[in-house]
Amino acid sequence: MTILLTGGTGYIASHTAVTLLEAGHQVVLFDNLCNSQRDVVARIEQITGKAPVFVEGDIRDTQLLRTTLDQHGCDSVIHFAGLKAVGESVAKPILYYANNVQGTISLLQAMEAAGTRTLVFSSSATVYGEPKYLPFDESHPTGATNPYGRTKLHIEEMLKDVCASDSSWRVSCLRYFNPVGAHPSGLIGEDPQGIPNNLMPFVAKVATGELEAIGIFGSDYPTADGTGVRDYIHVMDLAEGHLAGLRFLRDHTGWHAFNLGTGQGYSVLDLVAAFERACGKQLQRKMLPRRPGDIASSYANSAKAESELGWRGTRSLDDMCQSTWKWQSSK
Ligand code: NAD
Ligand code: UDP
Repeated sequence: MTILLTGGTGYIASHTAVTLLEAGHQVVLFDNLCNSQRDVVARIEQITGKAPVFVEGDIRDTQLLRTTLDQHGCDSVIHFAGLKAVGESVAKPILYYANNVQGTISLLQAMEAAGTRTLVFSSSATVYGEPKYLPFDESHPTGATNPYGRTKLHIEEMLKDVCASDSSWRVSCLRYFNPVGAHPSGLIGEDPQGIPNNLMPFVAKVATGELEAIGIFGSDYPTADGTGVRDYIHVMDLAEGHLAGLRFLRDHTGWHAFNLGTGQGYSVLDLVAAFERACGKQLQRKMLPRRPGDIASSYANSAKAESELGWRGTRSLDDMCQSTWKWQSSK
């Protein structure tokens, strides 16, 4: 298969590109480089020995997407491109709706015109909002609590409507939990600009000495040690989840949602302890108030992905921290 990866040089897409190339597929990476670097393309080639095609462009350029789909004979698309910083989305909602929602409409128009109707979409566990119960399963009510999450929900709803209108569409919405970790080579990984918003890259920068101390947002949550609990998933497991998501669509039309998590929750302190094991040093930490908008716990029921996709996240928290440390310390 030839697969177009929008947001193709980004964190999750670059790892997925490696998995797809190693499984014998061709990939076309489409990205405007607003949050990634061009040298990722060469690194993917260094890991796999295969050169991905790279097209620099914005997903809102429908014509360029259409030409790219046609020129390379893409039979399916994995749609990663999007802005993802929750705080920024609260400050700049128009930017988020324009980039994420309008960008997806443009992609769907290009796909329709090119006759490519198989799509895997990067959704998020954030679509579940406040937990009514845990673990989250795919039938948990949705209701995002910030503009970023609402862009994901709007896109999921649009995709449902498109599938309802024409039975030749095949769509998997993959609801990621907390992707972390890096490729074992240390050649690709998460590379946020400035001070990271997310826990793992923040901890990694404390370990290299770039940041002084880990700020722990809240120690009075109703969890075992009082800090927030999340379902961290290794980015290589997630990459394999995309391959499984695509395989599933070979035999299934219509709209489908799958949780991609391990089903195991770890606290902030669990993750910090695992990172200290990985880097062999003690990391400074300071307790801070809760971060507004955070929930106490989030973890997946991943039974549907296991039974229908034949996929399960298997890599451990230690593996997630060791690969992050290898990537971060070699940069
Ligand atoms: P990332 O920022 O590393 O990758 C996104 C890529 O999309 C970047 O390379 C960026 O340059 C590109 N991009 C953004 N807008 C674009 C546009 N208009 N046209 C072309 N390219 C554009 O982020 P990531 O962590 O790899 O996330 C990939 C997807 O997964 C996103 O849609 C994100 O919302 C979703 N997701 C991420 C997480 C997470 O914690 N990392 C969790 C759930 C869902
Ligand atoms: N967190 C923290 N310090 C940080 C960043 C995050 O204590 O610098 C906590 C956050 O409150 C949550 C967990 O770490 O309990 C995971 O946060 P992250 O932003 O990585 O992912 P989220 O689940 O919020 O999308």
